[in-house]
Amino acid sequence: MADYDCDLFVIGAGSGGVRAARLAAMTGARVVVAEEYRVGGTCVTRGCVPKKLMVYASAFKREFEIARGYGWTDCDPTFDWKTFLINKDQEIARLSGIYTSNLAKAGADILYGTARFLDPHTLEVRGEKATQTVTAAKVLIAAGGRPSLPADVPGIEHVITSEEAFQLPELPKRMVIVGGGYIAVEFACIFHGMGVDVTLVYRGPNLLRGFDEDVRAHLADELRLRGLRVLLSNQHERIEKRADGILISHVTNSLQVESEVVMFATGRDPHVKTLGLDKAGVKLNDKGAIAVDEFSQTNVEHIWAIGDITDRLPLTPVAIREAQAFAETVYHDRPMSFDHADVPTAVFSQPPVGVVGLSEGEARHVHREVDIYMTKFRPMRSGFVGGDERMMMKLIVARASGKIVGCHIVGADAPEMIQMAAIAVKAGLTKAQWDSTCALHPTAAEELVTMHEKYMPAELAAAE
Ligand code: NDP
Repeated sequence: MADYDCDLFVIGAGSGGVRAARLAAMTGARVVVAEEYRVGGTCVTRGCVPKKLMVYASAFKREFEIARGYGWTDCDPTFDWKTFLINKDQEIARLSGIYTSNLAKAGADILYGTARFLDPHTLEVRGEKATQTVTAAKVLIAAGGRPSLPADVPGIEHVITSEEAFQLPELPKRMVIVGGGYIAVEFACIFHGMGVDVTLVYRGPNLLRGFDEDVRAHLADELRLRGLRVLLSNQHERIEKRADGILISHVTNSLQVESEVVMFATGRDPHVKTLGLDKAGVKLNDKGAIAVDEFSQTNVEHIWAIGDITDRLPLTPVAIREAQAFAETVYHDRPMSFDHADVPTAVFSQPPVGVVGLSEGEARHVHREVDIYMTKFRPMRSGFVGGDERMMMKLIVARASGKIVGCHIVGADAPEMIQMAAIAVKAGLTKAQWDSTCALHPTAAEELVTMHEKYMPAELAAAE
């Protein structure tokens, strides 16, 4: 006899799992949720939310510099990491508490521990104090992802991942950050802003592979302008720990970089290993993620999976929308799938990047003929104090339809702007419709509706 019998068993109390559990419980279903760490999942406890707080914390340094130019004096305060940690942890505990009480209010039970299948309808949750068994009519797997580290780098046991970066006992003097994706770029900017001497090491020719090439080039220039050391086409051969605790990164071309902390941000893997999926017969795809159809259903009829564990688009709002679609389909008998096209995304680097739709390369591939509109300018706020920073905006228009199929922004408030631009791109509005919208002056965002000249790279212009 199982300890719990339920209609829906949800594995993982992250953004997707909590939303699905609440929506199902609100229909009267008996719902049990298993969580092995903290309610709220990666986003709330060791991802988006604490990361954004760290972005805010680190950005003040530049703000104080700018403030001086505007006439403020005594703008040379110091940063206390420990105070920030205490306040950040309080906020995360508050948010996790809200998620927990929302689950309880909806009538769902929470079991703390690691869940795994014993057979397709029976699972156990192994906690610190007890192991409980659950039988479930339906199962939703929303166990997220975990940082992945390359196995072939000697000394890899000395490095940390983003998970430990949120809890460093003290701020190091020097730090090496490895990777060129979202996490590496965001954390390099965060720690650089907090006064750490950061070296970002990336194996490719430029950061943010997969993003528009102009975005990548512009961001690299801006990061260098702000004094971040970026080593491109460079890889760790080994990491050595000296007797005094200092780490030595041995990278390409016999280069050695010393630091107190080395952080690898080399991707995240779907968290499938501990789930006992073989006992339920759930199949994985070739990326090692749980294979699902457009309704998030696995190959086993009563088992669904949403969020990062399916590796479709590992972003919090996507997991939430997949959860809503799951609840509509399964609990309201209204089959619904989430459309993964034109999902806006932001890299909270400094300056930040906001993107919706296709890169120029993708757009040329899909639409063949495209028109490009691009502007780079010195924003008023930092330009006033003599800053060299430049903002970049790029619109990609499918020539046949006139629709804007890609919008890319690098610069202050890019993520806020891109959320709005995403409405227009998702709605399929044309460049002419964007341009019929009156500018709001003086803002940086007004450039989005005042780019009248088509952009032509210098080499193409010369060839015409
Ligand atoms: P990404 O997949 O974005 O980047 C991983 C990086 O690590 C790539 O630059 C990759 O290089 C590099 N890499 C992989 N393996 C190795 C290796 N063996 N040696 C050296 N470098 C290596 O992963 P992240 O960990 O940055 O982020 C994971 C996901 O989390 C993202 O895809 C994103 O969806 C989500 N996320 C979203 C955020 C946001 O919305 N702001 C913030 C943080 C995360 P290469 O490019 O050559 O493959």
